[in-house]
Amino acid sequence: MSKTINVLFLAAEADPFVKVGGLGDVAGSLPRALRALSTDDLKLDVRLVLPYHPVVKAENLKSLGIFSIPRGDSEVEVEAFETTLDGMPVYLINGDPIRANGSVYSADASRDAEKYTFFSLAALELPNRVNWTPDVLHANDWHTAVSLYGNLTKRWEAVARHVAGVVTLHNLPYMGPDVSGILESYGVKLAQTDLPEWARSMPLPLGLWASDAIVAVSPGYANEVLTPEFGCGLNDFLQIRKETLSGILNGIDTDSFNPADDKAIAVNYDVNSLQRRAENKEMLQNKLGFVSNPSVPLLAVVSRMDVQKGVDLAFAALKSMKKADFQAVILGTGDPKLEEAARALQTAFPEKIKAELRFDSGLARQIYAGADMLLMPSRYEPCGLSQMIAMRYGCVPVVRAVGGLDDTVAHGETGFVFEKEHHMSLVSAIKAGVKVMSDDKEQWQKIQRTGMSRDFSWKNSAQEYLDLYLSLVK
Ligand code: ADP
Repeated sequence: MSKTINVLFLAAEADPFVKVGGLGDVAGSLPRALRALSTDDLKLDVRLVLPYHPVVKAENLKSLGIFSIPRGDSEVEVEAFETTLDGMPVYLINGDPIRANGSVYSADASRDAEKYTFFSLAALELPNRVNWTPDVLHANDWHTAVSLYGNLTKRWEAVARHVAGVVTLHNLPYMGPDVSGILESYGVKLAQTDLPEWARSMPLPLGLWASDAIVAVSPGYANEVLTPEFGCGLNDFLQIRKETLSGILNGIDTDSFNPADDKAIAVNYDVNSLQRRAENKEMLQNKLGFVSNPSVPLLAVVSRMDVQKGVDLAFAALKSMKKADFQAVILGTGDPKLEEAARALQTAFPEKIKAELRFDSGLARQIYAGADMLLMPSRYEPCGLSQMIAMRYGCVPVVRAVGGLDDTVAHGETGFVFEKEHHMSLVSAIKAGVKVMSDDKEQWQKIQRTGMSRDFSWKNSAQEYLDLYLSLVK
């Protein structure tokens, strides 16, 4: 007899509806990769639910009507819509708290407190509206984690049957604001938990506490969050939950990120026509206003401008290499101070450093297809997608040995890896790369080809999520 597992996948963002960062990539591709694992014997009915942020782009919306959830002595209206993505039902939830501040994320997370609490609790009601019952609630990061807590409190009231709760940790330090007052106003009581005192009213810790399984987005990060260095004060709590904690590496959408038919790049190529990649480098050099020269190492940073990403270390490294022959492009937005530092570098070294301070998916792809090396000196990195995309395009990553970077880049084989959180360690790694690139072309191409041939698709990781679901619903 065939079996079905119903999964409601909750996220703050998902490509192609709305994408701000890596979470958007994951929530856009993992649910579909999971559905693709369905067989005659086992059907995986994964459905995605997102807040209907004002910036969401969605077509063919069907209204599911309006319902309400209690808040204080009155009620808040929830407007629900349905659309599909490759046959997958996608639900969008709207309401005053979601419209309130317009953006997907506010710089001050407390401004998002009600938006995501409302979304998480409304999403729990949604299945009733569509006559469909999830076996698993799969939340992502603090924005949706509190849904697991809301679900658990319902179970205590014996209103809900057992629905397994999974939370994927994409970024532990972002635990969300204090939501105790908001939860109470929505009728959700705070329980006695074994969380540290300071964490007892924060959405991510509450979700972790209420979950049946916790997934970190790489095996390396799953180990790191158990340590004081990366555990953000929850390491002791996570140690207690260690049995339920695992690491599953994120995949990338290998159909979209495919140099063989990426429409955004000048010349398509694959592992057997790597020589054609040189044309993309030339185009990129021209576009950036650099001297077009195939042998000058072209280094790149494609990243949020955030201290997490160690972009300051990359800037210091480039500065200290000022006498060396290289070109560098910095693509990113974020922290104004880091943007200013990037601009200052461009001003100081206009012939060799170009700062493009915006979000530009097309340019990002041209950089992956044309640059020689991608610098990713992250202070911590739960998984990281950029280094995988870079390898897929034959752009050799130079990364710090943390979290998902250490899990995905093999030193000397697919990239260059360094340990210390210091710009001179990055400089040594870049120099090691430049040396291979200029002295041993064959070895360099071997590194490129090996990276291009690695399987970064969702296939294996989606199977690991499926195995996890199966262990929870059996
Ligand atoms: P994070 O989610 O921590 O920002 P990831 O490496 O997991 O980092 O994912 C970053 C994603 O965002 C990658 O797809 C990367 O190419 C993309 N990206 C980052 N900055 C920019 C930018 N300025 N323009 C275009 N794409 C960007």
